[in-house]
Amino acid sequence: AKLKGKDNIVYFNDQMRINSNRKIEILNLLHQALEQKEFKLHFQPIVSLESKKVVGVEALIRWFSKQKGYIPPLDFIPLAERSGNIREISEWVFKEAVTMQNKLDALGYPIKISINVSAKALMSPKFLQAVSKLVKETKADPTRIELELTETALIEDIRESIRILKSLKQMGFIISIDDFGTGYSSLAYLHKLPIDILKIDRTFIHSVTTDTEIPVVEFMVNIAKELDLSVIIEGVETEIQERIVKRYGCQYAQGYYYSMPLDETDLIAFMTHEASN
Ligand code: C2E
Ligand code: CA
Ligand code: CA
Ligand code: CA
Repeated sequence: AKLKGKDNIVYFNDQMRINSNRKIEILNLLHQALEQKEFKLHFQPIVSLESKKVVGVEALIRWFSKQKGYIPPLDFIPLAERSGNIREISEWVFKEAVTMQNKLDALGYPIKISINVSAKALMSPKFLQAVSKLVKETKADPTRIELELTETALIEDIRESIRILKSLKQMGFIISIDDFGTGYSSLAYLHKLPIDILKIDRTFIHSVTTDTEIPVVEFMVNIAKELDLSVIIEGVETEIQERIVKRYGCQYAQGYYYSMPLDETDLIAFMTHEASN
């Protein structure tokens, strides 16, 4: 969609949503951001609709730039992908996420952690090597780490995608398709990919305010059942939305209705509170 933002910024899509001056500023700051320790991870709980318990958290990167304040991930991840330092950032995210998981384990909350993997990182020649090195270094348990990939990343080179996913599965990782339903139509190849979970994008329930049918969500949940995949519905903000997706047989949900993304301290408080309920 193309609409005019209030600062005269034209939003085309996520990749092109910021103007070129800001892009250049961000690019210049991006190189220093890691060593300046300006990145943080926030964690958004993912709950089981059946048990209401937190089964995992999604790690979401936050950049608090000393010069420009908060810069949203969609404003810099695409730039990092092109400028080349996505790899360092991804490694930092992986290590931080595993560190958080270890802390939660130690507190008695052995939950899963989901990590967003950028398309460029996934398809880079040394990706598998880098991941297995990270697993060794951090002593991570891949069977409790979910890697979130977008359809668009996978469809560009299906055979290579299958090869990489198979290796990741062999290491034990859980694989999910992020933002499902928003990319290219994927039904033709979906069954060929060794994946475990579909994450249905929040745009499909976003505007639903009454208890109504959402056929497209029902359809996607049925595809998942057919392919023996679990479903996480994203962006649940209200009880009504929860009720609808639950009826269709969605197993897991994520969204402001349960919790915003939380920093480490708030996440631990959230887990402690929920355990006492
Ligand atoms: P995503 O993977 O689809 O992440 C979910 C986004 O939806 C997050 O935005 C989250 O804050 C937001 N969200 C969650 N629940 C709700 C809700 O109920 N309502 C609404 N309106 N929004 C909700 P965020 O953190 O701004 O991240 C945006 C995107 O940036 C992510 O989309 C992901 O594609 C990317 N991203 C974030 N962290 C990383 C990272 O560490 N690595 C990579 N490669 N990409 C990342
Ligand atoms: Ca995600
Ligand atoms: Ca998503
Ligand atoms: Ca998204």
